[in-house]
Amino acid sequence: MNFPAVFAISLFIGIAPTYAHGPGKQNDFGGKRVLLIGIDGCRADALRTAMDSGKAPTLRKFASEGCADWSVFAGGELGGATEQATSSGPGWSTILTGVWRNKHGVSSNKFEHHRIAEFPHFMRRIKDAKPAAWCGSLVNWPEIQHFIAEPSRKDGREFLSEKVMLVPDPAKKGRDWPELDIAIRDRTVALLREKNPDALFVYFGQVDETGHAATDPAGMFSAANAPYLGAITRVDALAADVLAALRARPHFAEEDWLILATTDHGGTGTSHGKQSPEERNIWLLANGGPFRGGAVLTQKCGHAIVPPTVFQHLGLAIDPAWGWEEKPLLPPAAATPR
Ligand SMILES: [Zn+2]
Repeated sequence: MNFPAVFAISLFIGIAPTYAHGPGKQNDFGGKRVLLIGIDGCRADALRTAMDSGKAPTLRKFASEGCADWSVFAGGELGGATEQATSSGPGWSTILTGVWRNKHGVSSNKFEHHRIAEFPHFMRRIKDAKPAAWCGSLVNWPEIQHFIAEPSRKDGREFLSEKVMLVPDPAKKGRDWPELDIAIRDRTVALLREKNPDALFVYFGQVDETGHAATDPAGMFSAANAPYLGAITRVDALAADVLAALRARPHFAEEDWLILATTDHGGTGTSHGKQSPEERNIWLLANGGPFRGGAVLTQKCGHAIVPPTVFQHLGLAIDPAWGWEEKPLLPPAAATPR
């Protein structure tokens, strides 16, 4: 049968043609879409403290209507082949590629000897499967763009339809991260109004910088530290604006968004990188798809679980040859109120 005949029959019996990236159900995923919110350097106990004390009302509501998993770890398997520094470079590489240092090769924030081309960004994999997919990445830690997104291009071809890479001013020594996070929020809100993303990654950096005492001299990575909790509160408010923009989309009711939020590592004192529980224990919040009802998930998993969980939601097949470390996050068997 020739193509015009197929097309005519498709029209006649109402088979949906392949969409590019329209709103509502008009994408290649039947309306399914994904938003990943990354909050750098956010300790699990500090986030829980903030959520339970009214300092992170957005994320608390997000988890109470979705699911929270507090058993997630950074740093790979302790003492095993996958162990890696609890630093941003290895951490975000794992979250975005689904593998640990023994595969992606990123052992520090210098990204020396990385093998990202071999183990690319999950959005590259989405684009491979669905060439019309619309993926976007908005970050203010430029390394994510330079060392994870760019080396993920196949034959130099861009797979991101929107790239926002804000660059901190070195002279400000990290103190400009709060304003850069506001700018990321603004660009994300505009994008959700004007475009029709299938997968979106939004990164906020100020929680980590506050832990490093960059934005506040009293800052440190601690659930008992007011400046650190204050940074979580500010990012919570930015997340509120992003979620409001998402829910204000004209065809939101027809769209099936899975929203994930996670971090790359915790911290202790004013640093991180080693393997203490304070640095390794992290968290994953999931809202949408089957992740509803306020359940607390107890699946012990690395943050390498993000790409497979995204693919499961979008209905995309996972090739074992990619070496992804985790199976997709399991939804709650029965919702357990938080
Ligand atoms: Zn980090």
